[in-house]
Amino acid sequence: MYKGTSASAGIGIGKAVIVEEAQLVITRQAVNNVEEEVQRFKGALDETIKATEKLAEDLATRVGEKEAEIMQGHMMLLADPMLTGEIENSVRNDGVNSEYAIENVCNMYADMFASMGDELMQQRATDMRDIKTRMQQMLMGIQSVDISSLPEGSIIVAKDLTPSMTAGINPANVTGIVTELGGKTSHSAILARALEIPAVVAVTGFMDGVKDGDQVVLDGSTGEVYVNPDQAVTADYEEKRKQFLAEKKELEQYIGKPSVTKDGVQVEIVANIGKPEDVDKVLQYDGEGIGLFRTEFLFMDRNAMPTEEEQFEAYKKVAAAMNGKPVIIRTLDIGGDKEIPYMGLEKDENPFLGYRAIRFCLDRREDVYKPQLRALLRASAFGNIRIMVPLVTCIEEYRQAKALVEEIKKELDEKGIAYNKDIQVGIMVETAAASLIADIFAKEADFFSIGTNDLTQYTMSVDRGNKKVSYLYSTFNPAVLRSIKHIIACGREAGIMVGMCGEAASDPMMIPLLLAFGLNEFSMSASAILKARKMVTQYSVEELQAVADKAMSFATTAETEQYMRDFVEKVTD
Ligand code: PEP
Ligand code: MG
Repeated sequence: MYKGTSASAGIGIGKAVIVEEAQLVITRQAVNNVEEEVQRFKGALDETIKATEKLAEDLATRVGEKEAEIMQGHMMLLADPMLTGEIENSVRNDGVNSEYAIENVCNMYADMFASMGDELMQQRATDMRDIKTRMQQMLMGIQSVDISSLPEGSIIVAKDLTPSMTAGINPANVTGIVTELGGKTSHSAILARALEIPAVVAVTGFMDGVKDGDQVVLDGSTGEVYVNPDQAVTADYEEKRKQFLAEKKELEQYIGKPSVTKDGVQVEIVANIGKPEDVDKVLQYDGEGIGLFRTEFLFMDRNAMPTEEEQFEAYKKVAAAMNGKPVIIRTLDIGGDKEIPYMGLEKDENPFLGYRAIRFCLDRREDVYKPQLRALLRASAFGNIRIMVPLVTCIEEYRQAKALVEEIKKELDEKGIAYNKDIQVGIMVETAAASLIADIFAKEADFFSIGTNDLTQYTMSVDRGNKKVSYLYSTFNPAVLRSIKHIIACGREAGIMVGMCGEAASDPMMIPLLLAFGLNEFSMSASAILKARKMVTQYSVEELQAVADKAMSFATTAETEQYMRDFVEKVTD
């Protein structure tokens, strides 16, 4: 059995089709007529742009506008005068063939992006290599691998899939994807999810262990992949596949249903988003609002900060699309693991304990924070926007943020610009300090949202991304559970809404506990909403009190997890 990173849920069972791009051999050749060569390059560039446009259009109709944007990103790279100008200059000044000039210039950019370390820049590097190969293939008259017409029941196996290859896949014939490289947030993984094809990426050494036609079984939820498994394993996964599809179908009946427990306690099940386009999926899965809009994504993968106007448009778009439902927008949370090169942040010794989120924003109030708050207030005239402040550790930070909101409100009043005068300003409770003084925060903040991803990190003193210490990273640790229970109690006591937007909010083993503690709002990725709603409707809050008491009585994470696992299994049996 191989193990990789789960990239798109579902079970794939089928025959391996090894997809390998022919290795292009690019050699340096001197050209006599450089102007003619430049024209040759321009012709190939035009053709590549046209082919990419076609792919984008095709994706927009087949899958969705958002997915087509990935190809539009390629078009932007191809239309970038700096890139194409450098290639032309190289042909003219060095007197070399276009293929060679493209190779050098594109590799230089791709290497530069790749060296920046973060995942988004890695993706840019992949995109750059993708367009490089496509321009070269165009020049050399080589067809790229056509994976639009594979036989039914194919499992695509590749070193890495470029976004343009993934976009060409026909989901009717492809039942799974396995790659040696790539990550959960790479564009090809995003496309696989949009096409609803089960996928596992980053499977080390996989290409050496599989050949064309082998039987491959993969579980896109767990990251497990088998090559030529025995009959029993295949039968087991056939069953899992049936269950997965049946559950997906069954969950559709929860669209339009209220999120209410058996004993009549109503909660809200809302969504986490990163970009305005993510709202489509939220509406598809009947989210009751947005519980977390991570605005840092608007700031990432670009060369300069989005202007107040651009931000205003993005926030307004989400608020309007959600049509009066609550939209909680978190102010910029960068630093820690989220770097933004153009912000000029120095590398912290201890990034997670350093200059990030509200600490950074209060320091950069003129150029960063105020424009964002102004955009948020202006957009609040178009829907039910609430502002959320991340990573607070002391009440002064909240007060300063709130004072800035008040200052901007006055400014807007003077200019006669509309905004929601009663806009709520809440906090993320995600540090140990904020949890310990949750009663103090509850007196001033308009709402809480518990960020368990960070709360677990800061409570357990364990880097959330460090595999070596990940055994300590669990929301079921008694310390984290006590913290969650305490935060909810403080919020409820003060009469404010308490939500949760960390990953724990959609954990089937955690939901019964959160209901028992009195959580009002559960925020999660859109695709998890219906399952969570189903679970909520299965429980009675009153009956769950004894379960929560028992769960809180254990001394270790393992015992608590085991108890909750047994409990959930019993309920769902
Ligand atoms: C959290 O910390 O739980 C959270 C939701 O925020 P992020 O994952 O963006 O830090
Ligand atoms: Mg956080």
